[in-house]
This record gives sequence, structure tokens and C-alpha cells, in this order.
Amino acid sequence: MASLGHIAMGMAVARFESNRPAPLLQSLFASMVLWSGLSLLPDADVIGFRLGVAYGDEWGHRGASHSIVFALGVALAFAAVARLSERPFPRTLALAAVVVGSHGLLDTLTDGGLGAELLWPFSSERFFAPVAPLPVAPIGRGILSSRGLYVIGIELLWFAPLLAYALRPRQGSQGHRR
Ligand SMILES: [Zn+2]
Repeated sequence: MASLGHIAMGMAVARFESNRPAPLLQSLFASMVLWSGLSLLPDADVIGFRLGVAYGDEWGHRGASHSIVFALGVALAFAAVARLSERPFPRTLALAAVVVGSHGLLDTLTDGGLGAELLWPFSSERFFAPVAPLPVAPIGRGILSSRGLYVIGIELLWFAPLLAYALRPRQGSQGHRR
């Protein structure tokens, strides 16, 4: 995935969370950056390419960091830190688990690369969804190629509803309080 879908997911959750009492951050923009960063976190595994980790290895690209267990671990740590600043633990935990966990699931919808290691550490099987509507993105700077722009365009179509939700104008008292 070209990351646009992951960013859209983070932005939508930021929007949802910002309308609740005691949001993590007062600034919606900062909140979108934070949640989108969390959504992209599993792809930090591409650093492994430089360190000699092969794509298909346990900690290779789309490996352990794309698992459900990894998502729960990150969500627990994230919610624990949020708890220190009096933010509601269950809500932060649930949203972070959805955001990080969605990454691996969304990657299974792509039509290339290797599947996501969703069940690590219990299984090293790599999964693809039965349907693959998303073209796989070139890794790194390749995203700036015509192929990369094509992938971004397709993702823009698929994730338009999430982006529309995230970016819709604020209305009523919620907007005026900020
Ligand atoms: Zn990924």
C-alpha cells in the first residue's frame, strides 16, 4: 500500500477522538499527525532492508510488525503513556489497537509483495485477503514514479470516505469551542 490508506485511517481516528472528552491533543492537525504516524508504524520494518533483513524473514517487511500481537503491544504501551496524562486508558487502547491493527489487514488487500504475518508469533504464515483491490506500491522513492502516482490515485478513491469524514467541516458548538 502506498501509505495513503494508512494515513487516511489515522486521520479519521484523530477526527473521531478529537470530538470526545479529553482528546489526546487539542490541535486536530497535531492529532492527525500523531495517529497517522501510529498507523504507519508497522512499515518502520523497511529499515530492515538496510540492515540485511530479507523481505520474507520473520521481522522482514510485512512480518512481525504487521501482526495482531504487535498491534496490541503497541496499543498497550501507547495507552499507558496516555494514561499518565489523564487520558482514558480503554478508549486510547481500543483506538490504537484498531489503528495499528488495521495496517496489517489493509496490507493483505494489496496485489503484490508478500502477505502480512498477521498471526506472529504463533505462525509465520503470510496472509492475503481473498480480494486484492489495492495495487501494491513501489517501495521508497519509487512512489514518485508514474506507477506510484497510479497507486496513490486508486487509494484516494478507496479511502475517500475516510478522508471525507476526517476533513469534513466542523459544525455547531464543537467547532466554536476551539
Ligand atoms: Zn505495511
